Amino acid sequence: MLDPNICPRCGERAARVTVDGDRWLCPHCGHDRAFRRLPLLALTGPSGAGKSTVAAALAHRLAGRAVVLEQDVLWVAGLRDDIDGHPEFRSVWLRLAAMIHQNGLPVVLCGTVAPPEFEPLPERAFFTDIHYLALVADPATLAARLRARPAWRAWDEPRIDEMIEFADWLRHHAATLDPPVELLDTTTAPLTATVDHVHSWIDRVLEPSPPPTIPTSPSDRHADDSSTPGKSRR
Ligand SMILES: [Zn+2]
Repeated sequence: MLDPNICPRCGERAARVTVDGDRWLCPHCGHDRAFRRLPLLALTGPSGAGKSTVAAALAHRLAGRAVVLEQDVLWVAGLRDDIDGHPEFRSVWLRLAAMIHQNGLPVVLCGTVAPPEFEPLPERAFFTDIHYLALVADPATLAARLRARPAWRAWDEPRIDEMIEFADWLRHHAATLDPPVELLDTTTAPLTATVDHVHSWIDRVLEPSPPPTIPTSPSDRHADDSSTPGKSRR
């Protein structure tokens, strides 16, 4: 059973499972199984900032290393809840991402989301951290990009205004959200520069730099003292 909400032993569905490090614990029967807890990467931002275009390029670049998915494919009848923050929709995505993580590859989820919509959910426990990078653009650019979309996407002026309002909220609150959201302005950036930036963000999240080496004995310290200034700075 891969669904991280269902116990493979007793078959019960848990509203809130316990994940302790790399162990998954069933609240009904106490079953304890190995669980791969990985970071989730959320590439977010308002519509029109370039997420989908970047996602397509990233999927090619990251093949075999990460799984790039677009959130909107599940924005379908039944999951399109009208509750503020769309908790059902968000929960399904976290379960799906956690299930993919059991295969050993981290998920890069592309779609509009903000930390207050993921962080309070019980399924948040399936991940070590969720990292957020938001693509943004100035209001005129966003509006022009959304107006240029095909009619079936139904971008009328009230919806465009709402999206610009969200973009404005994000710009003002990104740094103080928990966790903070990094911003990347795509207003004038060429696509390749944006893809490069997002790629380096993913590298940074997935391969944290090793801790700095520290001297282990007095003789090591002495050797460091005698080196030229700045030599040991890497
Ligand atoms: Zn159980």
